[in-house]
Amino acid sequence: MSRRPASPPVVAMIGGGQLARMTHQAAIALGQTLRVLALRSDESAAQVTPDVVLGSHTDLDALRRAADGATALTFDHEHVPQELLEKLVADGVNVLPPPSALLHAQDKLVMRRKLSELGAPVPRYADVSSVDDAVAFAESVGGAVVIKTVRGGYDGRGVVMASSVDEARAIVEGYLADGVPVLVEERVEMRRELAALVARSPFGQGAAWPVVETVQEDGICVTVIAPAPNLSYETGSAASELALRVAAELGVVGVLAVELFETVDGRLLVNELAMRPHNSGHWTMDGARTSQFEQHLRAVLDYPLGDTSALTPYTVMGNVIGAPQTPAISMDERIHHLCARMPEAKVHLYGKEERPGRKIGHVNIVGADWESLRERAERAAHWLSHAEWTDGWDPHT
Ligand code: ADP
Repeated sequence: MSRRPASPPVVAMIGGGQLARMTHQAAIALGQTLRVLALRSDESAAQVTPDVVLGSHTDLDALRRAADGATALTFDHEHVPQELLEKLVADGVNVLPPPSALLHAQDKLVMRRKLSELGAPVPRYADVSSVDDAVAFAESVGGAVVIKTVRGGYDGRGVVMASSVDEARAIVEGYLADGVPVLVEERVEMRRELAALVARSPFGQGAAWPVVETVQEDGICVTVIAPAPNLSYETGSAASELALRVAAELGVVGVLAVELFETVDGRLLVNELAMRPHNSGHWTMDGARTSQFEQHLRAVLDYPLGDTSALTPYTVMGNVIGAPQTPAISMDERIHHLCARMPEAKVHLYGKEERPGRKIGHVNIVGADWESLRERAERAAHWLSHAEWTDGWDPHT
């Protein structure tokens, strides 16, 4: 038996967003309290855990305060600079995933290069140091390209589509003039987007949840269907194996999400990596034996990993995304109506103020018929954000 400490371990998470909030929920069940480094006391996770360190993830002192006495230090986002992470490691802090792994979720160019080196399928891409590089690449793939900032994008920010060489030239010119490093890649003709979610522990144990379909609108994930409908056993297994291999090769500890494109001709290409609980895994809170949040804790604490099997044939998650106009009726009243109409809906709200386009919660629904679940999860999520029933339902008639 390994010797484990007498008091509960403390996991410190950098970032006080919804991922930290939901990780704290999982920590409670394990008899723990998640420590959170938050910018403000009203952030999602800072509202719910008593162990809050206020400060910035770019301030070494704040990071050190968060790390003090923690069994492991992990992340709600990937924005902590490498230099600071290396200082923490030098202090003896158990940073998980290690900075050398996390770099692949921070820098899209490093990630593309590494995946190519590992033989993992990625979209054709080019490193761009001049407008000519971008133009030459766009010409070579027929004009339809995507320009991405190498660092710092999320939810589609920092991703711009170009339909022609001229458009690509203009966009790249703009970025380079501002001194923002970008890469250019082919615009993939895709059937849909998938995500393979896995976890890996320092001991080297790996676990994979069923591969899911993620539905995006304007670069933001709106719906997740778990497992991905009509995905062959072979393709699903190949995606999971690829994700487990990437986790092992990069030395990831914790949850790893591998965002994938399924091309119109049936190939899988890796789009992005995230080394933390991920939106594509929120369904696991109600639809899997072990949630991604519990699994992330288990992994960074080097516990044996939990069973990742699904509890029902399908789970559909609908993101609650702030409406262009915040509804006049309160969220409390919206929840009340939702509970009345859809007792099967599992609501998870993040305690965030409503703003257009902001993810403020999600709804999970489990069952057997994914099309009906999708319709209901999207209807429930739309109701919570817009206070409108998409099918015109009126409780008073
Ligand atoms: P972010 O880092 O902001 O999440 P992503 O790289 O995941 O950005 O891109 C956001 C979305 O843009 C993807 O989910 C996908 O819908 C679309 N996209 C990204 N890259 C490509 C591509 N090469 N071809 C076609 N669509 C793409």
